[in-house]
Amino acid sequence: RHASDREFFGHPRGLVGLFFAEAWERFSYYGMRALLLYYMYDQVADGGLGIPADTARSLVAVYGSATYMAAIVGGWVSDRLLGDRRSTLLGGVLIMCGHICLALPAGATALFVSMVLIAAGTGLLKPTISSSVGDLYGGNDPRRDAGFSIYYMGISVGAVAAPLVVGTVGETYDYHLGFGLAAFGMAIGLVVYLGIQRNLSAASDRPKNPLRLAEVPRGRLVTVVSVFVLVAIGLVGSAVTGVLTAGGVVNLISLVAIALPITYFTVMLRSPRVTEAERARLRGYVPLFVAAVFFWVIQEQGATVIAQYAAESTDLDAFGFAVPASWFQSVGSFVLIVLTPLFAVLWLRLDTSARPPSTAHKFGVALVIAGLSYVLLVLPSAQAGLAHPLWLVGSLAIVTVGEMCLSPIGLSATARLAPAAFATQTMGLWLTAGSAGQGIAAQLVKFYDADSAAGYFAVVGTGTAVLGLVLLAAAPLIRKRTDVAA
Ligand code: GLN
Repeated sequence: RHASDREFFGHPRGLVGLFFAEAWERFSYYGMRALLLYYMYDQVADGGLGIPADTARSLVAVYGSATYMAAIVGGWVSDRLLGDRRSTLLGGVLIMCGHICLALPAGATALFVSMVLIAAGTGLLKPTISSSVGDLYGGNDPRRDAGFSIYYMGISVGAVAAPLVVGTVGETYDYHLGFGLAAFGMAIGLVVYLGIQRNLSAASDRPKNPLRLAEVPRGRLVTVVSVFVLVAIGLVGSAVTGVLTAGGVVNLISLVAIALPITYFTVMLRSPRVTEAERARLRGYVPLFVAAVFFWVIQEQGATVIAQYAAESTDLDAFGFAVPASWFQSVGSFVLIVLTPLFAVLWLRLDTSARPPSTAHKFGVALVIAGLSYVLLVLPSAQAGLAHPLWLVGSLAIVTVGEMCLSPIGLSATARLAPAAFATQTMGLWLTAGSAGQGIAAQLVKFYDADSAAGYFAVVGTGTAVLGLVLLAAAPLIRKRTDVAA
């Protein structure tokens, strides 16, 4: 009898542990993220780095893009070398080191080193911990969707607390102290994970498709290693000589973020390890993935454009005390936690109804809603003076309803549709939707400024809503490919 058979409220026990471990990891990530923009653009005299706001917005976006981009590499390392459990642990340690870097008053250098460490760490941890959730359930276990919703609530518990704790301390006392708290949160997450790892499925213990070095053609090995070494030398060299500016880093990451999933889909679709049935499902997954990319373009601007809108264009004294701007980053997760039980009932009703909505329907609705959350902001932005904070709260609440139609469902659909040989890597691929989204956002946010905010929100919001309508129209075609029993 396997450890993961023991149940907790009708779910495998391992789920509780993963819930809390991921909650603490997300606490560290979103705590750091709640401060990042302000830390970058604040004047040096005020403890910031004094980076111009537009560059800072793009940098925050590519920072996020890099963390999810690395999930592809992390997924590969897990599938071929380490397995999920070890990758998660190693990732947690790297993330903690990244936050410690930011906690040291070491300026822009520490910022870039932290970005490398947190990207590598999150790349290892995020896909592997999500895939461990999927592995708690057997092939057609009907509880998997619910399991991912519960797990997603863990993400949100961490994400709601982080800005309130890390954000408040960082904004009111000292940025580095705030980042230090993020490191501390990751340390707690690691302790939790060490305690619960025995409750995971045996599948988390070993690589799913172990790499046997003897089987790899020598030529290919040499090519891959050489390319890695050359790219590393090129990057370090151009950074040291000053050829690679902050703007250069932004454009480079944007480009890679878009190219990566395209390449990866191509590799998977062509791989001899993928069966014909798996290939057909994967093709149906592509439009879902594209929808997710555009959803994250909007949702992830919570830490860039919306963070700046909160600090600059919102009346933070409207409630009679000075609300720290970072608190707005808790709104979405708070709404998500409140609505999760409601959505659990809603999905159960809809999914068992005579005409259950397909994954593509849910994603289409998510996009339309995300677009509307921006359209709502056109009104207060078009008026003179500071906006009442409730506008922003309303917009963040709306985009979160979209998130509930897309993000947990996407995780579950990914676990269901992943070709066996690429199990954890497909989870990594799903995360690169967030990477590509932020890569695109890194370019888009350059067009934002407080004076023309109404136009920005109108164009980006309407564009996204239209994309959602297109997806809704195409949904019946996509359903045929993706919503079959695996
Ligand atoms: N908010 C979710 C998380 O942190 C998903 C983020 C994403 O995929 N871009 O896990």
